[in-house]
Amino acid sequence: MDRSTSSPSTRRVLVLGGTAEARALAAILAAQPATTVVSSLAGRVADPRLPVGEVRIGGFGGPAGLARWLTDHHVDAVVDATHPYAARMRVAGVEAAATARVPHLRLERPGWTAQPGDRWHRVPDMAAAVRDLPALGTRALLTTGRQSLGMFLPVTGVWFLARVVDAPDGPLPAHVRLLRSRGPYTVDGELALIRDHRIDVLVTKDSGGALTEAKLVAARRLGLPVLMVDRPAPPDLPAVVHTAEEAARWVDGLPPGQPG
Ligand code: NAP
Repeated sequence: MDRSTSSPSTRRVLVLGGTAEARALAAILAAQPATTVVSSLAGRVADPRLPVGEVRIGGFGGPAGLARWLTDHHVDAVVDATHPYAARMRVAGVEAAATARVPHLRLERPGWTAQPGDRWHRVPDMAAAVRDLPALGTRALLTTGRQSLGMFLPVTGVWFLARVVDAPDGPLPAHVRLLRSRGPYTVDGELALIRDHRIDVLVTKDSGGALTEAKLVAARRLGLPVLMVDRPAPPDLPAVVHTAEEAARWVDGLPPGQPG
């Protein structure tokens, strides 16, 4: 975010990204002449979907590193649009914005809501999901991501179809089959996947949003139990919105950027 390339009163916004909402917001802000947007990605995914506009990749070195980055790059506002399960970054964003005295907004899509016919078994965290899984099924479609896969490996009596964007390091035991793919998914595709692999339980985070919701519809139609891992408890957040459009309106309402 180079001040010399933007007009003196341009607002400089950092979007902490890695989600569809973050990309949607970057697209809106990049089209506004009064705003310069930089999106930040953690660098977890080998071939990430990139937002439009400027992008930086990699951690900041904790809240203090992020606060320094905000000051050094003359950032006027932070929108934390990271995934609902990116628990560390959520806290770091709030702390860093307070330290750097920069307005902070959390953009977070709502979680899913159970519909009639759903057989959801909600658990507070991944450890509880590991504990409860064997009581719910023996052939699991595991969609909680690469980072949590290791926790499920010691579970006995359950075969796993583990759907991940990038493969984990190292070999996997024989009772785990890896399926590398990235959404969005269709209901027909999810029904076929579940039937083809004789899946009898779905394990998922409560990520929310339309892109990965089809698996829940398929599970409902087939009467499958769903082990739903709740979101980590949020930190105290000064302001929260649920859509990119709302976040763009919040940015619009900020005072103009200060000349550097
Ligand atoms: P996390 O546990 O909250 O963050 C771990 C560390 O990764 C942070 O302390 C930070 O490193 C770095 N980091 C996270 N998000 C970053 C960002 N947008 N820009 C720069 N650095 C970032 O996060 P996570 O669960 O590993 O998720 C990593 C990224 O993947 C996030 O951007 C998130 O939006 C995306 N994502 C996560 C999930 C999920 O289920 N967790 C799903 C889809 C997408 P430093 O401390 O060095 O700054």
